[in-house]
Amino acid sequence: MPASTPKTAILWLRRDLRLADNPALAAALARCERVVPVYIHAPDEEAPWEPGGAARWWLHHSLTALAADLAAAGSALFVARGESLPTLRWLVKAAGASECHWNRLYEPATIKRDTAVKQALRAEGIHCESHNAAMLFEPWTLKTGAGDPYRVFSPYWRRCVPRLDEVPAPCPAPSGLPGLPDGLESLSIEALELMPKVRWDQGLADTWRPGAAGAAARLRAFLDDAVQDYTDGRERPAEAGTSALSPHIHWGELGPRQILAAVREAGGVMTEGGAGHFVRELGWREFSMQMLFHFPRTPLEPLDAKFADFPWRRDDDNALLTAWQLGRTGIPIVDAGMRQLWHTGWMHNRVRMVVASFLTKNLRLPWQEGARWFWDTLVDADLASNTQGWQWAAGSGADAAPYFRIFNPVRQGERFDAAGDYVRRWCPELSALPNKLIHQPWAGKPAELDAVGIRLGDHYPQPAVDLKASRDEALAAFEQIKSG
Ligand SMILES: Cc1cc2nc3c(=O)[nH]c(=O)nc-3n(C[C@H](O)[C@H](O)[C@H](O)COP(=O)(O)OP(=O)(O)OC[C@H]3O[C@@H](n4cnc5c(N)ncnc54)[C@H](O)[C@@H]3O)c2cc1C
Repeated sequence: MPASTPKTAILWLRRDLRLADNPALAAALARCERVVPVYIHAPDEEAPWEPGGAARWWLHHSLTALAADLAAAGSALFVARGESLPTLRWLVKAAGASECHWNRLYEPATIKRDTAVKQALRAEGIHCESHNAAMLFEPWTLKTGAGDPYRVFSPYWRRCVPRLDEVPAPCPAPSGLPGLPDGLESLSIEALELMPKVRWDQGLADTWRPGAAGAAARLRAFLDDAVQDYTDGRERPAEAGTSALSPHIHWGELGPRQILAAVREAGGVMTEGGAGHFVRELGWREFSMQMLFHFPRTPLEPLDAKFADFPWRRDDDNALLTAWQLGRTGIPIVDAGMRQLWHTGWMHNRVRMVVASFLTKNLRLPWQEGARWFWDTLVDADLASNTQGWQWAAGSGADAAPYFRIFNPVRQGERFDAAGDYVRRWCPELSALPNKLIHQPWAGKPAELDAVGIRLGDHYPQPAVDLKASRDEALAAFEQIKSG
């Protein structure tokens, strides 16, 4: 390195796509005069969980927003594609860097990759530091009294709550950044080919504003309005009763420390009311991450080993799975959820639980099929939360509802979408049905259906399965593995 080269750090950005509360950026700036922010697209390194279609769409826009934020601060985003380690090695040399900083990820594949990168670069004399941007409590920090990982949420969260006051305050975004060294030739974000070739993404574009500014706006809107009534509002899928922050959080456009600070600033109490309940949901994200960290096989294998022998239904030609994926099962709340997912890349949590229960219990298809479909279609697809959500719904996970408590989608619809607004929005062909039939059109007399011009099997599917019979079959299937 020529004597005049300023001390330079590489900032390896992954799912921490923000400038504020970014500890890796703060550390790089504190130690070096020059920082080179780089995003390296290396989906193979996350196999078999490379980002799906909806996630790639989000990533494209999030990188675009980040590049604009970096440019406004006087820097730029260096974009590359290929294996991470050789790319970082090349960049270290090209930029004359002596340090590399990044924020930690916690999935089995990313831990393995990052560990190898750290060892290799350190062995070559590069100072490497990783930091925590994504968690209130990193997955290894809290254990039960017996020294085991928590497998039940309530005691886990009881342990976390008193420590919320110890969570460090978020660091502000730097007011300005040093420029990049001359001569570094970045790829364009378009060259990563993240956007779909066949444009199915209009619904996503209409729904979301990826990037840190979009995340901050959502958080503000939620704290100004919906948070007070969150405990009830979060159960009504027709309303904007939840924050819809999940994709922003997943991509690290907003960190949990920033959320805690904003809740406090808005006068929310961490343990009470709507704000307390909202913070507790963030706790489910933390819990899911510590489950994945300690049980890294759970994205593919049931945590409860007896479910490995569960007698799933044979689904010739994937007819039932396809009907579920397309929102054509004939069960309105399920179809509404699956269409919301396809159209917006997101689904309300209550409905996620209903469609997951329906797939794994009434259709009796493997939860892994559902998790895969969610993985490809969710903009917030997150290996920890998705795995935990699916295993919970299937009854095979940590802290799962007992298998025999099977959601009845009609009752769920009547309870949480009483006026049928959610179903009418996503299944408009049913909108003329009276409220008493909106969640079970098959219960209508022929004259009632005729009166609103609906013929089942023609305008809307007949139910793919009989709810009562399929429930009984699921319970019988469970009996076969119960003693295992
Ligand atoms: C089958 C199934 C699959 C799921 N897959 C995912 C997934 O891939 N990615 C994902 O982020 N969430 C997943 N969830 C959890 C939950 O449905 C979403 O986090 C939530 O709907 C996001 O909406 P929100 O941001 O409005 O949540 P809010 O109610 O506003 O909650 C605030 C934040 O807390 C976290 N959170 C809330 N509920 C949960 C939960 N049950 N588990 C973990 N974190 C939670 C999220 O980060 C969320 O943004 C899944 C749930 C189920 C039942």
